[in-house]
Amino acid sequence: MRRTNTLILGGGPAGAAAAITLARHGAAPLLIERARETGDALCGGFLSWRSIDRLETLGVSRDALGGHAIERVRIFAGTKRGEVPLPGRAVGVSRRKLDTLLLARAVAQGACVERGVAARRAERGRAILADSAVIACETLFLATGKHDCRGLARPHGHGDPMLGLRIRLPASPALTKMLGAAIELHLFRGGYAGLLLQEDGSGNLCMAVGKARLAEAGGDPRRLLAELGDESRALSERLALGDIAGSIDAIGAVPYGWRVRTSEAGLFRLGDQAAVIPSLAGEGMGIALASGVMAARYHLAGGRGAAKAFQAALAQRTRIPMMSAGALGALAATRRGRLAAPRLLAAFPTLGAAIAQLTRIAL
Ligand SMILES: Cc1cc2nc3c(=O)[nH]c(=O)nc-3n(C[C@H](O)[C@H](O)[C@H](O)COP(=O)(O)OP(=O)(O)OC[C@H]3O[C@@H](n4cnc5c(N)ncnc54)[C@H](O)[C@@H]3O)c2cc1C
Repeated sequence: MRRTNTLILGGGPAGAAAAITLARHGAAPLLIERARETGDALCGGFLSWRSIDRLETLGVSRDALGGHAIERVRIFAGTKRGEVPLPGRAVGVSRRKLDTLLLARAVAQGACVERGVAARRAERGRAILADSAVIACETLFLATGKHDCRGLARPHGHGDPMLGLRIRLPASPALTKMLGAAIELHLFRGGYAGLLLQEDGSGNLCMAVGKARLAEAGGDPRRLLAELGDESRALSERLALGDIAGSIDAIGAVPYGWRVRTSEAGLFRLGDQAAVIPSLAGEGMGIALASGVMAARYHLAGGRGAAKAFQAALAQRTRIPMMSAGALGALAATRRGRLAAPRLLAAFPTLGAAIAQLTRIAL
């Protein structure tokens, strides 16, 4: 059996942010990431102005991050459309790029990163890997994100589970002209789609959709996209620029709204394993980064015993962003709310900026 003081499971933004912060202060964590190569995780790729600032403090500069500048939000619902400026300059960036930069930074700071091996099961004080090796630890940072780890899985919610779907739109002058410096939100019955340009000029169209809506389309994502295109001309024009017959990435049962409020000594839950904000807010990565840094700081100051205080403090810090994003999601779930959203934005431009701020986690 191997032993380590601090073990981080998962090398997404949360795990990497914790690893950088711990390593920077000499704590030399061990991080286990199941993917051998950094993939392009299913994510809308919207990084807010605050997350960009946080990345700077972690040693990932704006220049290194690059990305496509996002300055406005454009909302579509049926035939309605509204557009307002964002309160800060965001970027659209692929997860391949972001995760690569963060993990390289963690290694440069002295973290030990082991790739290509998954934790099969975790519990406070140890993890069992897929090859049956056991790693015992004083403190476990659980950062497996969208994927639950047996032994410490999040409870499954009730009601219609939300799924994540993604299609890519290849870079083209038509796409660049259509999207410009905006993130688009297309609201529809049973879900929404976010669309923005990334660093290479390609479009990332990421949807959160209820399982029931997908079931109406016979469980076929392509049929669902065709139906959504029939309902919205704007979405149909955008989908026409992609390869709908090509691959569609999917992720099941995203527990939006879930938030942990307490923990026990030696177990720090980070990122999506601590709080899952509705993705139309575009703040999941912000929470992941903030929680990673915060958990590391609590641990550096108070050791394994600080887990409970950390989890309570994180729950408090995510309360307003989660409530605000939840309220937006609830509004978008009703026909009246969806149709009112573009009009409200157009009539009260400062409302958009205020909501965009409310859904951010404080630095
Ligand atoms: C449809 C959709 C759109 C979204 N759009 C946005 C957006 O535009 N902006 C935004 O900020 N957020 C967005 N999010 C949310 C964002 O993707 C997540 O909140 C964020 O990725 C959480 O980061 P994390 O580090 O907690 O987890 P993840 O990014 O999921 O990373 C977890 C890591 O752990 C690894 N792992 C998993 N299981 C194991 C295991 N057993 N052993 C070892 N390693 C393991 C994985 O390979 C992965 O690298 C979106 C989410 C969805 C579903």
